[in-house]
Amino acid sequence: MKTRAIHPFPTPAAVLALLAGAMLPARCQPLPLGHDRNRPLPPVVAPGHSSTQDQAGSAPSDAVVLFAGGELSAWCAMDGTPTRWVVKDGAMECVPGSGYIRSQQCFGECQLHLEFATPTPPEGSSQGRGNSGVFFGGARYEIQVLDSHENKTYADGSCGSIYNQYPPQVNASRPPGQWQSYDILWSPPKFDAEGTLLAPARVTAFHNGVLIHHNAELVGGTGWLQRAPYQAHPEKLPLALQDHGNPVRYRNIWVRELGPRAKPEFQLADRLLDSYCGRYQIGRRESAEFTRGGSGLRLKFQGVEFDMFAESPTHFFAKTVDVQAEFSRDGDQQKVLLTIGEDEGGRRGTKAP
Ligand code: MG
Repeated sequence: MKTRAIHPFPTPAAVLALLAGAMLPARCQPLPLGHDRNRPLPPVVAPGHSSTQDQAGSAPSDAVVLFAGGELSAWCAMDGTPTRWVVKDGAMECVPGSGYIRSQQCFGECQLHLEFATPTPPEGSSQGRGNSGVFFGGARYEIQVLDSHENKTYADGSCGSIYNQYPPQVNASRPPGQWQSYDILWSPPKFDAEGTLLAPARVTAFHNGVLIHHNAELVGGTGWLQRAPYQAHPEKLPLALQDHGNPVRYRNIWVRELGPRAKPEFQLADRLLDSYCGRYQIGRRESAEFTRGGSGLRLKFQGVEFDMFAESPTHFFAKTVDVQAEFSRDGDQQKVLLTIGEDEGGRRGTKAP
C-alpha cells in the first residue's frame, strides 16, 4: 500500500505561508473583539505646535528632538567627529565644503519632521541652486532638498524627489528664503541574515503639507548617474543632511520612532569604537574579544559571536541575547564590565596591551 510522505519539518510552502502571515500588514491581522474593554488605550502625546515663517514650531512629546534651535549636539560629521555646520538665528546652516552631517542616534522605521530654507537671493541654477538633501540609512537614500521655485532641473532631481528614482507628485515649493517643511514616513529595507532583500525601502512624504510620495518603493540606493542596487545594512542607521555646496538652513528637526519601542541606538565615532577593540582578559581563564562590526562592535565570547549596539558612548548591548558591555578607563588601562542575564556583579576584563 502506498503511503503519503509525512514531512518531519514544515514544507517550504508551509514556511512561506507562515512567513507571509508574520509579514502581514497590521490591517490584515485579526482584530480583537469589537469594543474590547481590555484593549490598551493609545498613549497620550502632546502634539507640539506648528511653525510659522517667523517662528519654529515644537515637537510632539514622544519625539526625539534632533534640533530645536540651540546646540548641534545631536549631529556630527559622518565619521563621528564634530561638524563644522553652524547655528545662526535658531537655525543650523550648511557650511559649504564642510561635508555631510549625520545624527548621532540611529533610526529604523520612523516619522521625520524638518524644516528647511534655501538661500536668498538665489544663486546658480538647476542642481546648483539651494541643493542639500535628507538621507535615510546613513547616506544611502536621499529625499532631495533644492530651490525648485522657478528653477528648472530634471524631474527626479527636483525638490522632494527621491533622487534619481521618483519626482515628487507635485512641486509644492515655496520661494527661496521661506521656511518649508518635510514630513516623511520612512520604512527601511529589510534583509535576511544572509543579506538577501526581503522588502524594499518605502517612503511616504509631504512637502509643505502636500502629499508628494505615497508609499513609494525604492529600487535601491539613490545617487547621481546611477541607481545602486540594494546592499544589506543594519535596519537602524543615522539620518544625514547633505552639503552640496549651498548654505541651506534647517530648523525644528524631530523624529518619532515607529514600531516597538526599543533601546535608543547610537553610531559612535570610528576612533572611539576602535579604542574599544581588542582582547580583554577576564580572570585567569576567560577572555572576550571585541572587533568592529556593522555600525558598532562584534563580541566573541566563549566561542559565540554577536553584534553589540551602542546605547551610549560607553554602554553596548546585544539584541539576540541579554549580554551588555560597559567600557571604562582606569589610568592607561581600558576596562570592560560584561554582564550576562542576571549575572551577579558581571565579569570584569582588562584589555591586553
Ligand atoms: Mg541633494
